[in-house]
Amino acid sequence: MGSRGGHSHFGYGNRSIGNQWTDDVKKKIKDYGKDIGIYVSLGSLMASGIRPDLTMSALQDVEAFYHMFPKAQGIVNKLVATDLPNAYAAMCVNGTLELGLYGKLDLQTLNSYYKHDLQAKFHPANTDYHAIIWHELGHALEVHLHEKKYGYPDFGPIAAEVLENATMKVMELVSVNSITPKKVFNYAKTISGYAVHKKTDAPGYGAYDWAVWETLAEAIGDYAQNKKKAHKFSVAIAEEVMRMLDN
Ligand SMILES: [Zn+2]
Repeated sequence: MGSRGGHSHFGYGNRSIGNQWTDDVKKKIKDYGKDIGIYVSLGSLMASGIRPDLTMSALQDVEAFYHMFPKAQGIVNKLVATDLPNAYAAMCVNGTLELGLYGKLDLQTLNSYYKHDLQAKFHPANTDYHAIIWHELGHALEVHLHEKKYGYPDFGPIAAEVLENATMKVMELVSVNSITPKKVFNYAKTISGYAVHKKTDAPGYGAYDWAVWETLAEAIGDYAQNKKKAHKFSVAIAEEVMRMLDN
């Protein structure tokens, strides 16, 4: 990791790597991954038509994320292509980050699709395609915190706990007992449409009728991109996650 210290977070990959999987590019990407503890499955990425420039960008986003959440270092251990046909990217409970549409589209198209979703308020304001990767790392954070507390990785209870504590914080309440799913929902929907997305395949958690882990992931994406200028609920969620990482 230290050997990459001279590079800014976003300056290195996108334009200089290009879209050809040359031997030189393969080595650069493989080495960069190794530096940050990620096994890059070149065969999987190449077979699925994932671009090298966006592969490099994703790795740089992971490294930038580790600078923001130092206690989260190591939450990603492998990079492959996803089988999910319509996913931009995905995060597995075993620490594998999967690239899909995110890595197949050229940067201009990816940007235009993202802007379209942004205009529909589907993603947090003032984010761009980097937030796609940071959203997935939000899932990895949840999995990590769940494992820390319960001994095995999963989604659900930790996200609910984080959201409840963050709601308590922004409402300046002293007791979590007065937090209701409705109160949490009202804040969660200020982050983005996807933050309160009701999935048919993932109906929610406990008393929450939406996928609360998507709220957490959207908030982390927002915070990673906008820091303290993110939505106040995103900031509260990120701060709660950091507190839990420390404990
Ligand atoms: Zn997600």
